[in-house]
Amino acid sequence: MPPSSGPGLKGPKRKIVVVANRLPVSITPRKEGLRIQDSPGGLAAGLRALRDKGEVTFIGWPGYWPADESERREIERNLAQQFDCHPVFLPPQEIAKYYFGFSNKALWPLFHYFPAQCSYDKSEWESYKRVNRAFLEVVLERTGPSDTIWVHDYHLMLLPALLRKSRPSAAVGFFLHIPFPSYEMFRLLPWRTELLEGLLGSDLLGFHTYEYARHFLNSVLRLLGSEHEFGWINVDSRQVKADNFPMGIDVRHIEGLLDEPSVVKEIANFGRDLGAAERKVVLSVDRLDYTKGIPRRLEGLESFLENYPEWHGRFLHLMLCVPSRTKVAHYTQLKEDVDRMVGRINSRFGKPGWMPIHYLYQSLPFEKLVALYAVADVALVSPIRDGMNLVAKEYVAARRGTGGVLVLSETAGAAFELGEALTVNVNSREDMASALDQALRMPAAEQEFRIRTMRNRLRDYDIYRWVQSFLESLRGVKEAQRERESHRLGRGWSKGLVEEFGKARRALLLLDYGGTLVSPAAEAVLPGPDYRLIRILKMLSGGIGDGLVVISGMDHELMERWLGGVRCGLVAEGGAWIKRNGTWVETVGPGPRLPGRGERVRSDLGLREGRPRARPHPGRRARGPPHPVPGQ
Ligand code: UDP
Repeated sequence: MPPSSGPGLKGPKRKIVVVANRLPVSITPRKEGLRIQDSPGGLAAGLRALRDKGEVTFIGWPGYWPADESERREIERNLAQQFDCHPVFLPPQEIAKYYFGFSNKALWPLFHYFPAQCSYDKSEWESYKRVNRAFLEVVLERTGPSDTIWVHDYHLMLLPALLRKSRPSAAVGFFLHIPFPSYEMFRLLPWRTELLEGLLGSDLLGFHTYEYARHFLNSVLRLLGSEHEFGWINVDSRQVKADNFPMGIDVRHIEGLLDEPSVVKEIANFGRDLGAAERKVVLSVDRLDYTKGIPRRLEGLESFLENYPEWHGRFLHLMLCVPSRTKVAHYTQLKEDVDRMVGRINSRFGKPGWMPIHYLYQSLPFEKLVALYAVADVALVSPIRDGMNLVAKEYVAARRGTGGVLVLSETAGAAFELGEALTVNVNSREDMASALDQALRMPAAEQEFRIRTMRNRLRDYDIYRWVQSFLESLRGVKEAQRERESHRLGRGWSKGLVEEFGKARRALLLLDYGGTLVSPAAEAVLPGPDYRLIRILKMLSGGIGDGLVVISGMDHELMERWLGGVRCGLVAEGGAWIKRNGTWVETVGPGPRLPGRGERVRSDLGLREGRPRARPHPGRRARGPPHPVPGQ
């Protein structure tokens, strides 16, 4: 899989290099040649301002495998010149394994809590690793050492660590667009450790919600044994931050579209075709994916039709399903199930002149979709699990002064921000049915109040703010890392120190154990300090005895076992135990003491089995920087 060739971007100008599975362009073969079109999604839109200034470059799969070398070069040239995009060409057999295989048959279902749908295939995992390396090659070719590299989504979870090896000082951000599952789910993955280590090559890891970030931090703790302090994790003496950045949408763009004559016309057309003047329109828009809960929604709708007969003929459910991953078996099966259910419900409840469900199996251009949002009285967004769900946000943005009700599944990431929606548990048919009834009955003033409150919130934190706050945080993390970098003492300094030390009447040398004498990760980790360290400590204590003090957060008994042979002072458990003149003294008062954060009962020495580790005292100074990061 050779990397793309062509002129590199190395040079003094700083760039933001966005790396994602798909490039924001589409390539369509035509008789007269290839047609390459810009297809800006939310992310590309958010980067528009930087893109217009030529500060953003995209790297990704173009969705096309060239017929020969000359076509490959032509695509590369066109993409670079017209769109500032650089392709990672992937042969169809690799796409089958890396994309349709590992990404969409292992990671996607597992991260959305569908473990029964997962298949863990070693050869697909190997392909995933190969493709991540193929991305690395193109990124290295197209970036300079001072560029910022922003990697996106679950297809590229190994890339940050690969980048860290080749570009140790690069600013690398990673954003996950799907949920990060709980540890209990994540641990099921055979290659869980490799994936976590891959992600930790980043400087900043972004998630849609606080919950997803917390799940990630918990998996890091449980699987790698690394604790965090306010989202900061120490990785090989480098600080990595995990935080939540709920992705916004381009609200102003949607509002602008509502005034476009073509969209105004579409609104009128849809209104007429759907009979919006006589009946309420309930809209749903989803890719046909099992995470979107389409069969559950249909069950809820059936329950609504059974229990609220007064609505028969007075509403219509417009169900837009976008074809998706049609090569994966679960998706073909889902399509058959949905077709059958729609047919059954329509034949059971339909009557002359009225069918409850209008089913469209196609994708609409964004302008038409906005027109549909404008026509719909209710949007029914009911995924079983969704990282964010942009449709819910887009519907709110498109309801300018016209009320409208959003019924939203509580397991969509968007539910954390859209508190004024009617939230539902999609596993309860009754809940869905009564929420639909409540939505259809909601007084206009209440609709207007709820929608306006949500729209204002979406305006405040739109896609531009999202991009800005992520990139500012990434800069903040790099600054915090620089502040904490240790520097080798210069000759002058060390000479001065030695002289001062020699002149002192009494010497006191305080040495931190983990982070100074051994790496932070090696603190309280078997087999303990090696003989060279012990020899150095003995040499030092030979001159100053108890004037040498080693400080650690580890258990005092463990510290005694490891360092008791050195004639020096010891401070264990962050100061709770002190050894002076050969005797250990407990410094905290008598009586029971509640365990502090991160403390464990004595019998449990480690979070990973067989691994004794530090038990910080409540008063222990936080290691790692809970620095405020600008822009948050
Ligand atoms: N979308 C579209 N045309 C359609 C259906 C959907 O452009 O016919 C867009 C929609 O505007 C939204 C995206 O597809 O921006 C779907 O994003 P979402 O987060 O809701 O779900 P995903 O498909 O990413 O899981």
